Amino acid sequence: MRAFQEVAAGVLVATSRRMSTTSTVLASGGEALLIDPAWMPDELEALAASLDRRNLSVVGGFSTHAHQDHLLWHPGFGDAPRWASPRTAQLARSERATLVEYLGSDFPTRLADLMGSVQGTEAIPCASVPAGFHPELIVHDGHAPGHTALWLSEQRVLIAGDMLSDIELPLPFYPDDLPSYLEALDVLAVHAQHALVVIPGHGSPGTDALARVDADRRVLDDIIRGREPDDRRLADPGMQEALAHLREMVT
Ligand SMILES: [Zn+2]
Repeated sequence: MRAFQEVAAGVLVATSRRMSTTSTVLASGGEALLIDPAWMPDELEALAASLDRRNLSVVGGFSTHAHQDHLLWHPGFGDAPRWASPRTAQLARSERATLVEYLGSDFPTRLADLMGSVQGTEAIPCASVPAGFHPELIVHDGHAPGHTALWLSEQRVLIAGDMLSDIELPLPFYPDDLPSYLEALDVLAVHAQHALVVIPGHGSPGTDALARVDADRRVLDDIIRGREPDDRRLADPGMQEALAHLREMVT
């Protein structure tokens, strides 16, 4: 895991060696809210140690959606409440067996046991949010039902979950929920046009939130119209497969 990068005042991002998965920390006044802490056991341990070194105590967690790499936790973070949208929390429960399976049989049981223990909420309670942050939850069904982006209006930071990636093509919910993805891009665009920084769930934070929305719209539009998309992300690992999958969605 790479060291924290401070992308805005008190907004720290660490990036996993696995699929460039990001962990975002909102930090101020000795308190921290962890968003999607991930991924490998040693990385979660290192994350806990980094928070300790910064004298940050975890007051809350948030998961953007019900995929196994976004529902993780570590005992070193403590037992602060963990939150998600109501639909995400429900899926984390109902899909638990499958999600544990996706973690792999070599994933430590003590961490697998902690995965997905989130409570559904419409807004993150104040006690779980460090001073100076007022995250607005933007819930949509773009990449997964109940997927949630967080908009920090004071900092003008958009934490996009598994959307607006610079290394992944749009990945609509399987098997065919392309309409929800297009709607989600419209919803995100409202904030993206004001964002100074966008943080994707996989990839690099950037200052190009709106350009990422446009790039994703372009790819999907090309596929819907039967054209060959021209996008540099097609060269990234797994993206030819993702493209084939997108083509299936429109046939
Ligand atoms: Zn995902």
